[in-house]
Amino acid sequence: MIDQYNRDINYLRVSVTDRCNLRCKYCMPKEGLSQIGHNDILRYEEILRVVRAGVRLGISKVRITGGEPLVRRGIVDFIARLKSIPGLADISLTTNGVLLKQFADDLFSAGIQRINISLDSLNKEKYAAITRGGDLNAVLAGIREADRVGFAPIKINTVAIKGFNDDEILTFAARTIDKPYQVRFIELMPLGHVGGDNRSKYLSNDVVTGIIRQVYPLEAVNGQRNNVDGPARLYRIAGGQGVIGFISPVSRHFCHACNRLRLTADGHLRACLLLDEEVDLKGPLRGGCSDAELDDLIRQAIAKKPWGHTMIKEERHLRKCVKEMATIGG
Ligand code: SAM
Ligand code: SF4
Repeated sequence: MIDQYNRDINYLRVSVTDRCNLRCKYCMPKEGLSQIGHNDILRYEEILRVVRAGVRLGISKVRITGGEPLVRRGIVDFIARLKSIPGLADISLTTNGVLLKQFADDLFSAGIQRINISLDSLNKEKYAAITRGGDLNAVLAGIREADRVGFAPIKINTVAIKGFNDDEILTFAARTIDKPYQVRFIELMPLGHVGGDNRSKYLSNDVVTGIIRQVYPLEAVNGQRNNVDGPARLYRIAGGQGVIGFISPVSRHFCHACNRLRLTADGHLRACLLLDEEVDLKGPLRGGCSDAELDDLIRQAIAKKPWGHTMIKEERHLRKCVKEMATIGG
């Protein structure tokens, strides 16, 4: 469906849970988020109904995210059912990788085509510190298993954090030399309760690129596929097998090309990550709304999609965004 700013809204990110087995410092407070009650989380059946409606209106790609999607029971069967929706061309998943070793094979068989794994440090102690207790070896084993099972490309999402992993940027970049991975550096966004702290640790991708270029010349990757590579600007270290991506929601926001809707874990449609204006779907779904009414609610959400978030210039927009990524679906 084309929105009022002529963007083709064809991509739905679904947060299947706000729960997580990690507590990344920039994402969640240490006690976790106030968790949504079991009954207030959309049931799989309800999510499938929303996705079918989305597909009727032009959604062709779905990303499963969270919280940590692999902690929700029944996730593999749910994905297999998603896969059977006619017209849904692409299903992908974002995970912290902790449980990936045990799930990779089943996810691949269920029909996940692409996988993003979040990893902010390659140092065991630092990884445990930023995630408040995560086990780096589990994630590395998960990545190896994803590789073995056949996921390609494997995308590693690394949030660049000043004073934490700026000294590892070259190490992450160098991983793309002999592995066909796509390592993507993501700018830290000042969201939700931990927003203020994030602001002081923000590192722009211009700085990250500069650090890499001091050691490795970067070649722009031609033929970037907007539908698959999303908002990442892609480069390659000369001769490298993999690709380095830069996702810069703060310094170069990509709102003009944003094709996304988000379905929150508690059943609301959100047209922009950074604006708390949502359309409630759970109430109508549980109240027995018709397919036509559901379609209409999705149209309403798309109509609310703003032109852009102007994250840095307009502080008032930031204050409006009180939800964390884990609830909205990062
Ligand atoms: N738990 C899964 C994971 O970590 O991959 C999926 C959900 S997580 C919210 C999705 C992505 O959002 C992760 O790559 C995480 O690093 C990123 N993220 C969370 N908070 C962020 C923030 N404030 N700024 C930038 N990225 C953030
Ligand atoms: Fe959990 Fe992902 Fe947030 Fe880390 S970034 S706390 S893994 S939801």
